[in-house]
Amino acid sequence: MTDPAKKIQKIYTILKGNYPEAATFLVHRNPYELMIAVILSARTTDEQVNKVTVKLFAEYPDPPSLMKADIKDVERIVFPTGFYKTKARNIIGAAAGVVEKFGGNVPRSMDELLSLPGVGRKSANVIRGHCFNKPAVIVDTHFSRVAKRLGLTEAVDPGGIERDIVSLCPKAIQTEFSMLLNVHGREVCTARKPHCSSCPVSSVCSFFCNN
Ligand code: SF4
Repeated sequence: MTDPAKKIQKIYTILKGNYPEAATFLVHRNPYELMIAVILSARTTDEQVNKVTVKLFAEYPDPPSLMKADIKDVERIVFPTGFYKTKARNIIGAAAGVVEKFGGNVPRSMDELLSLPGVGRKSANVIRGHCFNKPAVIVDTHFSRVAKRLGLTEAVDPGGIERDIVSLCPKAIQTEFSMLLNVHGREVCTARKPHCSSCPVSSVCSFFCNN
């Protein structure tokens, strides 16, 4: 298939049939909790983050309580996620930013989200897509790998990959498409050995067709 926009639509339709419930794996009840969870998710597993946030949100249920937290206590709680000193500093700083700059509410715009410590484009897109129903192409390691193998992008940096997919993918399905590629990367198109023989999108996959 040569038209990349049609190819994306076909991949979306097939993967949606295979993963009808694709959603973020980070457990959260509101934008504050997702913002903190996604900051903590850098270089660790979602499962580990979900264990930690149960304890964290029991003690610090909202931005005002977290911004006033003793950093040593926060470091102790987030320790299992790795990089705990930086993450503790960032989540306290992000909570303070939400209170001091945005009236206690997690902001919706990309620029406002990027002004918060620890929030990069991927995190901001996760929040915008899942909490505020904004179009969001969420570029993580799974998404990048699968998008490249499928032949949807040749970019090597996350910003370039995001731009390529944004230009091809209808806004209405960008967030869902992101999650579908993410779950497909976790379950079938795995990093070390993609399971191409059982892949439902192999007929339109550049990697499969060229090997
Ligand atoms: S055919 Fe193979 S490389 Fe292509 S998306 Fe499927 S699992 Fe990944």
